This record gives sequence, structure tokens and C-alpha cells, in this order.
Amino acid sequence: MPDRPDFEPSTLVIHSNRSYEKQSNSILFPIHQTATYIHESVGVTKGYGYSRGANPTVNALEQAIAAIEGTEHALCFRSGMSAIHTLCMAILKAGDHVILSDVIYGGTMRLFKQVLGNFGIEYTYVDTSSIPAVEAQLRPNTRLIFIETPANPTLKLSPVQALAELAHSRENILLAVDNTFMTPLLQDCLALGADVSMLSTTKYIDGHNATIGGSLATHDEALVERLYLVRKTIGSIQTPFDAWLALQGVKTLPMRLAAHCENAGQVARWLEAHPRVAKVNYPGLDSFPQKALAQQQQKAFGGMLSFELDASTKDSLRFMDALRLCTCAESLGSVETLATNPATASHCDLTTEERTALGISDRLIRLSVGIESPKDLIADFEQAFAATLGGDA
Ligand SMILES: *Cc1c(COP(=O)(O)O)cnc(C)c1O
Repeated sequence: MPDRPDFEPSTLVIHSNRSYEKQSNSILFPIHQTATYIHESVGVTKGYGYSRGANPTVNALEQAIAAIEGTEHALCFRSGMSAIHTLCMAILKAGDHVILSDVIYGGTMRLFKQVLGNFGIEYTYVDTSSIPAVEAQLRPNTRLIFIETPANPTLKLSPVQALAELAHSRENILLAVDNTFMTPLLQDCLALGADVSMLSTTKYIDGHNATIGGSLATHDEALVERLYLVRKTIGSIQTPFDAWLALQGVKTLPMRLAAHCENAGQVARWLEAHPRVAKVNYPGLDSFPQKALAQQQQKAFGGMLSFELDASTKDSLRFMDALRLCTCAESLGSVETLATNPATASHCDLTTEERTALGISDRLIRLSVGIESPKDLIADFEQAFAATLGGDA
């Protein structure tokens, strides 16, 4: 609700759009399931012309996301990937260079390698946790630094503020952050200086595994115009129904995030204390090498963690298969706890050597900790240990 910016996030996610439907006064914002809009007289509309350009229900979700991003401008897309693709189409041209975090979502790697690379877009994977490493790779044609922090699936962090300062010390370089793991409520990328905050709304924003969607938020009005033009041109806008479902999901985002963070912390500490666990990656643990950076740029430690068992890859996969409450499925950020094996799922396109160099072992298990009772989650791990690795010994 732009006229009441003093509301807390837990209020904004529910009340960011108050323009109720006038015919019935339904409390939910309606689904405007329409392709086109009637002209009151030729050329006179209420601001909507065709749903490839804009749609009131998508706009309602955009207002909710803009409110929690702390900006006036957010745009929603058909998927997280189409948000990243639209951003690249909007700001890059052949011959431009992009710096990407070395540990990054597999789909983003695929976009650059298999699609954008064919259009003359150059890119370099860099350890973006290191400012000198990024600085060393900047080129005169670098236009975009695209980072993911925490990164999937190692949770490695990159310093948003320092990277924004580096980007802005050069001419014409934007910093975009894939903030899917945190959402702006746990990591306010725009306030930290990033030019663009990108979300796969499929994850925590929807929160119920009901939709696929993505968003981009920025303070840069010229960029918004350009994004709007490209989205309208290539047709990457989210559908009204998916936007409507995500609009219901986002209302509980603050309380869901609190439960995700609490549960992930409990599960991480329990796993770390277990004799058959070799390693746990979770920014909230004292053993996490970048805990101080997490405390500096994040408001909490999030709901994602990864871990390695003190066991072979084969036994680690047997352990995953033995889980009963936790579900083996791709995706993250939903109310259900999901487990994945990145080597066979999100990072299967990489060779074992490439994965090893990034700290992604074949036995690594990634957990998106849901909002079930942590007691039940831990009991599920306990029974899976007993079934596959013989319990505590
Ligand atoms: C899922 C995901 C994406 C892609 O989003 P889709 O909605 O699946 O297209 C991008 N980045 C991260 C970190 C993700 O987890």
C-alpha cells in the first residue's frame, strides 16, 4: 500500500492492495482472467489494454512484492527463469560481458551456456564471495554482475553491499541479486545497494508449491520501462491465475519464514551433533565460515541447509530414500520439507570434477526445511539413520 508505507511487512503482505472488487465487495482481490479489455471509447481504457502487457491480478501481486522490496516497482514473470531471461534481454546486447557467481542455480547456468551464449553474450563464473576475484574479472564490456547469495546448494555467501560499491565504481555495471533463498524480508538487497532484486516466486513467496513464477524489483525507473517493454514483447508476464494463487501465499510469508528459520536452525544443530554427519552447511552455525557476513547482511539465517553424511554416496542416497516425512523433490521454500541430491538434480549438468571444485560432493544432500513440527522432522531423520546406517554408531 504505497500511501501507508509505515506498515510492517506482516501487514503489507496482506493489505498491499485494497482496491476491492466493487460488484460484490469480495474480500479477495479477484482473478482478472481475461485476454483483453474493453475500450470505453476508441483508445480510452482504464490503463489495461491486453494481458500480455499488464493484468490487474498480476499487478496486485506486483504491489505486494514491491511493498516488501521497499520500492514502487516490481514486475512478475511466468517463472523465475523468465524473470532472469527478461532482465538479460532488457539490458544486454551481443558483445556484453556478465559476471556470474560460480555457485549458482543450475537453470541460470543453462540459460547462459545453452541460450544467451549463442547470442554473443560473454560470461565468466567468479567466486563472488571475494571482491578482489570479481574486480580481477571486470572487463570494459562488463554490464552485469549477477549473484546468488546464499548460493545453491553450498550456501556460500557473497557480500552484497561491497559488490554494489564495486559495480557502481565503474561505468554502466548493474548488480542483480537472485534473492530467492532469503526473500527481501530476510535480506533487503535493494537497501544493501543492489540495482535489481530477483526472486523465483515459485519458492517462498508462493510457499505452497502451487505455482511457477518470478519477479524483478528495482528503484531504477528507466530499467522498469525497459523491462516492461521486453516483457510485453516476448510475453513473459505471469498468468492471472498463478498470480492470484501467489497473492494468497505471500500473505503468510513473514510467519512462514519465521517457522522455516526456527526449524532449519534446530535441524542444522541436530544434524551437526550427529556422529554419522560429516558436515553441515548452514549460515546460522558457528562452524559456518561466513556466519559474520550472514549476520551483517541477513536478518535471519533462512530455511535452507545442506549436509554430508559420513557415508558413501550410495548410502547417502539410501538414507534419502528412507525418509518418510521429508519428501524427495526438487524445488524449495514450501511448507513441506524437501530433500534433494544436487549432483543428480539441480547440478547434474556439471561433471563430478566441476562439482567437487565448487564444494558440491556427489553425496551432498540439500534440505529445504518446511514448517512441520521440528520434533517430527528430527524423528524422521532418526528413523532414516537407523534404517540405513544403523543408528548412532
Ligand atoms: C528455482 C530457482 C530459480 C528459477 O526459478 P523458476 O521459478 O523455477 O523458473 C532461480 N534461482 C533460484 C535460486 C531458484 O531456486
